[in-house]
Amino acid sequence: MNTNLSADVVVVGAGICGALAAESLAKSGASVLMLEAGPKLTTAELVHNFRQTPFKSDLVAPYPYTPQAPTPTFSPEANNYLEQTGPLAFGAQYLKLVGGTSWHWAAQTWRFCPTTFA
Ligand SMILES: Cc1cc2nc3c(=O)[nH]c(=O)nc-3n(C[C@H](O)[C@H](O)[C@H](O)COP(=O)(O)OP(=O)(O)OC[C@H]3O[C@@H](n4cnc5c(N)ncnc54)[C@H](O)[C@@H]3O)c2cc1C
Repeated sequence: MNTNLSADVVVVGAGICGALAAESLAKSGASVLMLEAGPKLTTAELVHNFRQTPFKSDLVAPYPYTPQAPTPTFSPEANNYLEQTGPLAFGAQYLKLVGGTSWHWAAQTWRFCPTTFA
């Protein structure tokens, strides 16, 4: 790996926000370096993982856990990544890999609900 890199801007995290920022900066002429903690996986690898996992209703199950980029996991049991002190545990999930949490975006794009303006 080349460890002698330089750029005008370093974006930490290759999720959707990092990607949008990097694209905008690059288009304005800056050189941009993106650093990502997690692995880079292909769609084929993730589809294969989904087919193999017995935990189909767990949206993070297809994404391999990597110790250098830890995340909350719930199957086969919770890894207690999140410190929860209330009576109702919140099963919050996110991903650490190239592409970030956009990999299991659930296609909900709530816009202009009546309660938005209440
Ligand atoms: C199950 C689920 C379903 C969802 N469905 C929807 C939906 O239907 N509609 C909707 O609008 N939103 C949805 N969301 C939310 C949406 O996916 C996220 O809000 C969005 O993807 C977050 O993008 P982000 O770039 O802010 O963060 P992330 O995607 O979390 O990206 C951050 C990146 O930074 C990396 N990183 C973190 N720390 C470091 C470090 N120290 N060094 C290097 N890299 C680092 C991480 O590995 C990750 O890749 C869903 C979320 C989940 C969990």
